Amino acid sequence: MHRHRQSREELRIGLFGGTFDPIHNGHLAVARAARRRFRLDRIYFIPCGRPPHKDRPGLSPYLHRFAMVVLGCAGEPGLLPSLLEAGPGWRGLRRSYSIDTVRRLRRLYGPQARLYFLLGADAFLYLPTWKHFRQLIRLCDFIVAARPGFSWRRAARRVLPAVREARGGRSGSVHFLPAVRVALSATRIRRAARGGSRLAGTVPRAVADYIQKMNLYRRG
Ligand code: ATP
Repeated sequence: MHRHRQSREELRIGLFGGTFDPIHNGHLAVARAARRRFRLDRIYFIPCGRPPHKDRPGLSPYLHRFAMVVLGCAGEPGLLPSLLEAGPGWRGLRRSYSIDTVRRLRRLYGPQARLYFLLGADAFLYLPTWKHFRQLIRLCDFIVAARPGFSWRRAARRVLPAVREARGGRSGSVHFLPAVRVALSATRIRRAARGGSRLAGTVPRAVADYIQKMNLYRRG
């Protein structure tokens, strides 16, 4: 079949932000499914600098989290590591806000591009508390991935009215992705690594290798 080359205006770009400490197979399954379902040209995996909502002690340095994102995206068509939230000197020390990242991508790709912000149902619950929430939801669509243990219905009841209100009565910017349900979390994987368990099946092989060789998650 002949495929037309898309102009820059028609690009469909996904952004997947997170701490990615580490990136895991849940993130990758969600991204692959979203790319297929919404015909996204590419999805940027954007490790945050200092997270506004998850500033926990022991967060791995940005360099490690970014390295694992690079390894996790390797060989995955359309999934790209991004330094957008690396901050000065690429050290990842600055607090990251999604609104700034989305604005930067909007400037880069122009008003016609479709931007899709990927997040899990757990993170979606807190969307109205994000910095400049009202502006944010005008700048991009959201793809909310199912996540075992978190009710989409509850999240929808709590968040959709705020989204609708902020968009002046119009909704439609929030899409649900029920297709994959992966009961994995980075917390669980860090715990397994600390206990010396095998990580096979929870993170890509190269990421497991990196965690082991760099001795991540063994202290504290
Ligand atoms: P932690 O256990 O350290 O809190 P996490 O597994 O939630 O980490 P993050 O890097 O914080 O991973 O998540 C980035 C984004 O990916 C968030 O929007 C989160 O909701 C989503 N996400 C993470 N794991 C899953 C999963 N298994 N299914 C669906 N969404 C997920």
